[in-house]
Amino acid sequence: MSNEKGPAKFLLYALTMLFLFLTLLPIIFSFTGLGIRIQLFFFVLLLFVSFIGLTTYTTGGERLLYIAFTLHLINLLAIWFLTQKLYLLAVFLALFGFVLSFPRKPDVYEEEMPLSSEIEVAKESQPKVHSQVIHSPGKFAASKYGTVYHAPKCDWAQKIKKKSLMWFSSADEAKKAGYKEHHCIA
Ligand SMILES: [Zn+2]
Repeated sequence: MSNEKGPAKFLLYALTMLFLFLTLLPIIFSFTGLGIRIQLFFFVLLLFVSFIGLTTYTTGGERLLYIAFTLHLINLLAIWFLTQKLYLLAVFLALFGFVLSFPRKPDVYEEEMPLSSEIEVAKESQPKVHSQVIHSPGKFAASKYGTVYHAPKCDWAQKIKKKSLMWFSSADEAKKAGYKEHHCIA
């Protein structure tokens, strides 16, 4: 099942609903007395919910369709229980719609919870955040305007202003850039 709310899926919903209601009509009229009144009321209610669901489809109406298909299923199972008649085609259509509209995790969720590897990349690309001084052991920090490089835990390293903070992944790299070891490193 895809997450897309494309026109093809909308058409599939509309057709499934249409066939389901058409299949339900003769079932409803097989009832008499109170039964037919309850079924007609339910039919109109679900028609209304489905109609709203389809017209607001792109703005969350899919939830209403899910509710409608669920109620269809419950109704058909109730009919099965009460009359011992199982209307397979109607149950199949309701089940199909139920599965199709079953709520999934919204896409936003994935965007808010990036993979840990993505977090690492994000950290690499913005090493000038002050908190990195504490959370980046194994790297060396220096000021753009200084002459020595520090271990991240060094008090001096933590005093370096964000905009002048530089990071080195190794001591060699720092030395090549012209920095000398601070005594905090030895
Ligand atoms: Zn130091």
